[in-house]
Amino acid sequence: MICPEPSELQELVQQLHRQALPWLPTGSGSRLYWGAPVQPCSGESEPRLISTSRLNRLVEHCAGDFTVTVQAGMPLQTLQQELGAAGQWLAIDWPWGSGPSGEQSGTVGGLLARGLAGGLRQRYMGVRDQLIGLSLLRADGTAAKAGGKVVKNVAGYDLMRLFCGSWGSLGLITELTLRTYPLPRHRRGLLLRGSLSALEQLRRLCLQAPLMPQRLDWWSAALGGNGQPCLLLALASVSSAAIADQLEQHSQAAATLGLEVEALDPDRLLELESHSRQGSSDWLLQLGVKPAQAADLLADPALDGVACCLAAGVGLGVAWAEAGALPAYRVEHLRQRCTSQGGQLSVLHQPPSSSPLHCWEASPASRIIEALKREFDPLQQLGRGRLPGVLQAGVNA
Ligand SMILES: Cc1cc2nc3c(=O)[nH]c(=O)nc-3n(C[C@H](O)[C@H](O)[C@H](O)COP(=O)(O)OP(=O)(O)OC[C@H]3O[C@@H](n4cnc5c(N)ncnc54)[C@H](O)[C@@H]3O)c2cc1C
Repeated sequence: MICPEPSELQELVQQLHRQALPWLPTGSGSRLYWGAPVQPCSGESEPRLISTSRLNRLVEHCAGDFTVTVQAGMPLQTLQQELGAAGQWLAIDWPWGSGPSGEQSGTVGGLLARGLAGGLRQRYMGVRDQLIGLSLLRADGTAAKAGGKVVKNVAGYDLMRLFCGSWGSLGLITELTLRTYPLPRHRRGLLLRGSLSALEQLRRLCLQAPLMPQRLDWWSAALGGNGQPCLLLALASVSSAAIADQLEQHSQAAATLGLEVEALDPDRLLELESHSRQGSSDWLLQLGVKPAQAADLLADPALDGVACCLAAGVGLGVAWAEAGALPAYRVEHLRQRCTSQGGQLSVLHQPPSSSPLHCWEASPASRIIEALKREFDPLQQLGRGRLPGVLQAGVNA
C-alpha cells in the first residue's frame, strides 16, 4: 500500500495515468476485499493500493452551520470524538465489523465510497443525504469539486452523489463536507420480542407515532439469541418526558400484542447496537426489500440460524453467518426472493469456493454505469474488474 503525502498525491495519480497502470483508491484498507475481486497489474499478484491515510486532517468545523469539512483519510472514530467534544456528531452508524467505540470503523472517505448506512437512516437518512460537498482527483489526476460547504446549495447536476457507493471506481475522494447534528440529550429504547405478526403490527405503530424512532431495527431470531425475532427501538429527544411518554405507549401496545418487552437505558442500548454489527462472518450479505416485506423475509427458512439486522422503516440491512450455517443454495434462494420483490442482495463476503456467487446482480442501470465509468476513467485504471452494479464475465463470477 502506497501512503503518499497530500502534496505528492496528484503527481502520483498523474504518473500512474501516463503509464496506464491500474490501482485502487484506499482508505485504511479495513474492508478492501469485500465484494468482487479487483484485478492487479499484469505480472503483479496484488492490486496497487493508493491510501489516503496521510490525508487525515479536520479542515473546518462550522458548529453554528452544522457542517464539517474533513480530508478523506480521517478515521471516522477520530472525527466523531472531535465533533463530540463540541456537542455534535455525524448521524451515521458505526459500520458493520466496528468495535463498541468505533474501533476499526475505517475512514470517512471509505465510508462514503461504500455508501452504506444502518438503522440510523430511519431518522437521519443515509450518508449520501448528509453529503454537502466533495473534492476528488479524477483518474488522470485532474482535481475537481462538487457541491459546496453550505447546507442549501444551488440546483444543478449532482456529481457528488455518484461517488456514494462508487467503491473507488470513479476517482479518489480527497475531501468531504458533511452535515452534523447536535448530540441527542436523552436516549432510551425497548427490545421487543415475540411473533413476527405481532412485531409487524408494533412496527407500524412505532413508525406512525408522534416521536419518530431514531432507530427501529428488525433482528432475526439468530441475532436475538433465544429463538424469537425482535425489534430494537431507540428514541432520542431533548425532552426526557417525551421519550418516557412515547415508550409507555409503545410498551402498553406491545403487552396487548403479547410481546415480551425489555426497557433499555442508554448503556444497554449501546451494548445491543454493538451486538448487531459483529459476529463471525464467512458470509456477509447486504439485503434490501420493501419495508412491508421484511417480516416475511425474516420468516423464510433460508434465514434459519443466520444473524440479520434490517432497518425496519426502509428494509435495508446486513446478514451474516459462518459457512457451515448457510449453504450457498440458500443465499441464491434469498437473492431470488429479494430481487423478485423489487429488492436486492449483494454478497460482500463469502467462504472460499470453486464456484463463488456473483457479488451483485447486473443493475438495470448497468449501461449507464459503464458509460459513466468510461467518462471518468477511460483507461479503466481504478478498481479494474470491479464496477458496482455491473457483472464482469470471468471476474465477478
Ligand atoms: C451501517 C454500515 C454498515 C456497513 N456495512 C458494510 C459492510 O457490510 N461491508 C462493507 O464493505 N462496507 C460496509 N460499510 C461501509 C464501511 O463503512 C466502509 O467500507 C469502511 O468505512 C471503509 O473504511 P476504510 O477506510 O478502511 O476503506 P477501505 O477498506 O480502504 O476501502 C473500502 C472501499 O472504499 C474505497 N475507498 C476508500 N477510500 C476511498 C477514497 N478516498 N476515494 C475513493 N474510494 C475510496 C475503496 O476503493 C474500497 O472500495 C458499512 C457502513 C455502514 C455505515
